[in-house]
Formats: sequence, structure tokens, C-alpha cells
Amino acid sequence: MKEAPVLAIVVPCYKEEAVLHETHKRLSQLLDRLTTEERISSKSYILYVNDGSTDRTWEIIKEFYKNTSYACGLNLAGNVGHQNALMAGLNAVKERCDAAISIDADLQDDVNVIPEMIERYMEGNDIVYGVRRERKTDTFFKRTTALAFYRLMKTMGAKSVYNHADYRLMSSRAIQQLCRFRERNLYLRGLVPLIGYQTACVYYNRDKRFAGESKYPFKKMLNFAIDGITSFSVKPVRMIFWLGCIFLLIALCVTIWTLRAYFLHDTVPGWSSLMISLWLVGGTILVSLGIVGEYIGKIYIEVKNRPRYNEEELLLR
Ligand code: UDP
Ligand code: MG
Repeated sequence: MKEAPVLAIVVPCYKEEAVLHETHKRLSQLLDRLTTEERISSKSYILYVNDGSTDRTWEIIKEFYKNTSYACGLNLAGNVGHQNALMAGLNAVKERCDAAISIDADLQDDVNVIPEMIERYMEGNDIVYGVRRERKTDTFFKRTTALAFYRLMKTMGAKSVYNHADYRLMSSRAIQQLCRFRERNLYLRGLVPLIGYQTACVYYNRDKRFAGESKYPFKKMLNFAIDGITSFSVKPVRMIFWLGCIFLLIALCVTIWTLRAYFLHDTVPGWSSLMISLWLVGGTILVSLGIVGEYIGKIYIEVKNRPRYNEEELLLR
């Protein structure tokens, strides 16, 4: 049996003064329970990452740090967005824990599956995804847009876990591997599956945000989706290429049809040449763009400089 792990809970917070007290209460209670049951080490802690909030968030975190157990804090110098804040937190804990769980400050994700996550981790899983069973509490709009997005991601060829957001447990070695991805445009739920290692899922029902409001308005969500697709796939470029090919094919048909009409004297002057050049030039431009895009795609992959592989085990003599 493995020793009880040191658990770090990483909580990105942006203008969350309305929810932090309740969040800290619930997380502390949970850690209390888990340490008394000796399922996690008593050195476990919660790291609140303040993502440049303009309200009292950081003051509250400092209060927790002074007056309560478990609480730790990281104050970022400005607002860098959820994904970067999360990454900052994971980076800070990676050598100070055995496993880390990332969770939103509003506790929309059910904390009661944390014990199950730890169980899965103890069974030898390096990454445990929290997956939403249903999205009844989300608005119809958020539900359908989210579903459409997961579908789109899949057709675009990016690996991602369906209905999983950023609620997950990662072992320290998985986080260290994650930190080797040096790209700027972070889309963590697409990166994590690239790490490899044995993974598991736990299922929960997503709650309503209990106070405060969503920091992900539609515009941010849309940007996030575009980020997700363009960071993981050069398929849109290839689509341009194939569109160009289709245009060239049409150009061929149009040419034959136009020439036939021309020789049957069924046309007005100037129409045939315009018709043919329009389709030919259009198709050629699209195909050329596709080819150029293919090279840009290659450059894109190179500059991201992602790790080529991740070693699981190496047996040497
Ligand atoms: N968040 C952050 N920086 C931002 C926006 C959001 O750290 O610029 C945090 C926020 O405090 C919360 C989490 O990201 O802990 C998720 O945000 P929210 O709950 O508003 O998103 P939703 O659940 O509505 O998608
Ligand atoms: Mg939320």
C-alpha cells in the first residue's frame, strides 16, 4: 500500500469575493475528513491563485492564510485568464505535492468526488478526469453550445474528454510533463490527454454557481473555443485546400460547358473568357492558399515545440 499522498488543491480565483468563504469552508472540511481517515497526508493544502482580481479576493486569501489551516496563496501580478492562472498554480505546486486537483472557485464541480479521485490515483492512475454526468443546471444555451463545441473539436481531430472541464487530479509527474509544453495559447483540456499515462474518470453532477456571476461570458467562451481548435488542429487549412480542388473541378466543367456554348454561338462577346477565368483563377488561388497554409501549419507545429514523447518507464542495465 502506498503512503498517504500530499494533496494540493489548486483554485484559480478571479473576483470571487462572494464565494471564497464558502469555498474555503467546504474544502477545509473535506481535507479535515480525509486527513483523519488517513487517506491523504496531513501536509496537504489548498492553493488559491488570485488572477489579478480588482476586488477583495487577495485580502480574503491572505486572511485564510493567517487564520486558518490548509490555505496557501499565489498572487499573480495581473489578470492572465483562467488557463494561465491554473497553469501558474500547478507550476507552483508540482514539486510540493504528490498529486494536485484543480477546481473552480465557485465549486460548481462536486467536491464530494475528490475522495474517489484519490482512490483512482492510489490505484495507479496519473490523471483522473472529473466528468459531468448531466448539465441540467446549465442554461439551454450553454448546454447546446458546449455540445456543439465538443463535436466540432472531435471532427477537427483534437483529443479531448467529453464533458470534462478543468476539474481533474494530476500526479506530480504528470504536471511536470505538462509544464514541458511551452506554448502560449493554453488549452489545458486538450493538452492533458497528450501527456499519456494511465487515466481514469469519475462522474458527478454539476451544480449551479452558488454566488457571484460567471466570468465566462459568451465572447470569452467563443474565444476559448477558437483557441482550442486552432491550437490543436491544422485541419481548417486542409479544408481550404480541398475546397480549392472542388473549385478547380467545377472550373473544368464550366470550361467545357462555356466552350460548347461559345462554339454553338450561344453567347454574348466577353462572357466565355470571363466565365472560364473566374473559376480557374478562383480555384487556383484557393489551392495555392491551401499549399502555403500547409507549410504555415508545419511551422506552427514546430514553433510550439511540444515534447515529442513522454517516458513512462526506462529499464536499463
Ligand atoms: N477565472 C480566472 N481568471 C479569469 C476568469 C475566470 O481565474 O480571467 C476563474 C474563476 O475565478 C473560476 C474559474 O476560473 O474559479 C471558472 O470561471 P467561471 O466559474 O466564471 O466559469 P463558468 O463556470 O461559468 O464556465
Ligand atoms: Mg463556474
